[in-house]
Amino acid sequence: MSANDLIFEHSFEYAAVGMAHLSLQGAWLRVNRKLCEITGYSAQELIALTFQGITHPDDLARDLVQLEQLMSRKINSYETEKRYLRKDGSVIWVALQVSIVFDADGKPAYGISVIQDISVRKQAELETAVSHQRYMALFEQMPEGVLLVDSELRVIGHNQEAERQLNYSGEKLRTLYIFDIEALDDLEAIEARRLRLATIGRDDFESIYRTGDGKLLQVDVSVKLVNLLDGQLIYQVLFHDISERKQAAQLIERMAYSDQLTGLANRALLADRLQQAMMAANRRGQLLAVVFLDLDGFKAINDQYGHQTGDLLLRALAVRMKEGLREGDTLARLGGDEFVAVFLDVTGTSAAVQMLERLLDVCAQPVHVGTQPLKVSASLGVTFYPQTDDVDADQLLRQADQAMYQAKLSGKNRYHVFDAEKDRTARGHHASLERVRMALQNREFVLHYQPKVNMKTRAVVGVEALIRWQHPVEGLLAPGLFLPLIENHRLSVDVGEWVIQQALQQLAEWQVQGVQIPISVNISAMQIQQYDFFTRLQTCMLEFPGLPPNCLQLEILETSALEDMEQVAKFVLQCKALGVDFALDDFGTGYSSLTYLKRLPVAIVKIDQSFVREMLLDPDNMSILDGILWIMRRLKRSVIAEGVETQAHGRALMDLGCELAQGYGIGRPMPVADLPGWMERWEKDLVWKEVALVPRTAI
Ligand code: C2E
Ligand code: MG
Ligand code: MG
Repeated sequence: MSANDLIFEHSFEYAAVGMAHLSLQGAWLRVNRKLCEITGYSAQELIALTFQGITHPDDLARDLVQLEQLMSRKINSYETEKRYLRKDGSVIWVALQVSIVFDADGKPAYGISVIQDISVRKQAELETAVSHQRYMALFEQMPEGVLLVDSELRVIGHNQEAERQLNYSGEKLRTLYIFDIEALDDLEAIEARRLRLATIGRDDFESIYRTGDGKLLQVDVSVKLVNLLDGQLIYQVLFHDISERKQAAQLIERMAYSDQLTGLANRALLADRLQQAMMAANRRGQLLAVVFLDLDGFKAINDQYGHQTGDLLLRALAVRMKEGLREGDTLARLGGDEFVAVFLDVTGTSAAVQMLERLLDVCAQPVHVGTQPLKVSASLGVTFYPQTDDVDADQLLRQADQAMYQAKLSGKNRYHVFDAEKDRTARGHHASLERVRMALQNREFVLHYQPKVNMKTRAVVGVEALIRWQHPVEGLLAPGLFLPLIENHRLSVDVGEWVIQQALQQLAEWQVQGVQIPISVNISAMQIQQYDFFTRLQTCMLEFPGLPPNCLQLEILETSALEDMEQVAKFVLQCKALGVDFALDDFGTGYSSLTYLKRLPVAIVKIDQSFVREMLLDPDNMSILDGILWIMRRLKRSVIAEGVETQAHGRALMDLGCELAQGYGIGRPMPVADLPGWMERWEKDLVWKEVALVPRTAI
């Protein structure tokens, strides 16, 4: 063998790819080492075999067709990918290049094959295919509509849900640009969005999409910038239709502001209107009258003729009273037979007296329900604004209420005017403020604790700390009797801090005893409006290191949160990081509850007692409650109902899907020493055990 032959010989034998000569029938004539390695056979073994013998049966036909074409000179060579069955039975993917050597007569003599092991690449391809399939399945099954949009903002992909919601065919969708779909021409908003996407790579917003059949959809959109492997940038746009949610929210807002029975304003709207009326009166230097109206003898009619008749009477009176109002005046029903009227721009005492007498007259006229003439009368209490002292809307209502009570006492069917001067001296405001300060110094305050439970699991989920004044002479005083005195005074911040410290002290004692019950503490408006609220809370907590997180909760009234929403929202987030959650107390009594809730990241919402108390009496209250719960589930807030006075309330709440509750029916506020005894009774309570079993009929 010549040196050249030897070189050729070696390049065949030691090539890094498999090489072979094959007979026209497919028998291996000559094979190199690499091919032996690939197939797992020795050279002798291979030479006893044919390529057909070691080709995967599923790949053989395709191979033979190509070979046939090669032999008939239709092609000069071919390449293919196929599988060999190795000696040990395993399968290996190879890439082949086959050509034929022809003899001097131009007849095919033998074949040459170059064989490469491509199993690694094939495996990777397989994995990609599987993950692609998985991704596609996920993509298709997403409840959201998905659009893939290229950097030119053209739709290049979508899922079925997108097709369904947008009501376009798939082909049509892929001819559209995102701005064909989005009905928004607010260039500033679009620019802001583009910036956010460029800087943080994602953006969430609400928008309006136009569907194929011209409808407008309100959508929640979430866009993410995705960097594809090939360096291409695309936007992944997830959207879902929130039109229904928006409508429901609007409906509930409406329900939440009007009295369902009479269509008059309710307490929440009254609060809003009164506040605006007071501001307007200040601006214009006008006088405002607030009239509290309570019917006399209404209960007797209700008892005698039933609720339905009572309701008809209330409706008829509401219509009549409203007729006498001027534009801008407000008439609200607080519930039951209590109404409040706000008269703007009262020109003087005689004008006011005329209005009051007209109201008395209207209420005293008989109402015909069916054939029955029904007759009631009204007691009115009235107060005016402005006054010498700075008063707020709540105080005005309290004054009018108090005056109404006087009217009742002095014989009903009359009005009584609140005497602000007399009240001022009687209250001796300063003296009482001093007294409260001393009470704090003398340690006369105590905390009582009211349990909060999960009615379904029957777990005690926490207790609410409620302040009491152990007055040396007057005995135990409820907070309603002394907190209003210090409401707008710095002293309320000190009292509030004492409550927090006391609660933390209690938690620390429980921790030593192995008891783990979270305590919630009420925070006054004044407290939360302190710029250093958070640092002060942090300082208090530092005195009790080692308390478990989430053992302290803070309750704020929505009205106090509204004053400075941004600041309060910031505190809420800061406290959350400290393991302290916020609850929004007395939810539903303020105004714009729902709108603001969206901006306040509180974890818990406490539904006000008034909804719960009247739930069983008034089906409208039930549907408001149902609506509120529905929205809260979507806003992912947990909800607790206050004022659960009976098991019937508990049962109805469970029916609506509200499991957390607090109220006299479960446990009254009690001194800490009474808690263990209550707990024992609660665990055994058979009636509440039954409530836990109520099937949920409404979600
Ligand atoms: P709140 O935070 O809404 O507390 C619930 C009030 O409802 C408590 O009245 C409680 O005794 C009462 N309650 C609980 N279950 C029922 C029930 O089933 N039926 C009825 N009719 N009432 C029930 P309380 O203790 O008189 O407190 C009144 C309000 O005073 C509290 O309302 C809270 O706003 C305020 N308050 C109490 N303690 C503190 C405190 O330490 N700091 C501050 N800033 N406010 C406090
Ligand atoms: Mg509370
Ligand atoms: Mg409350």
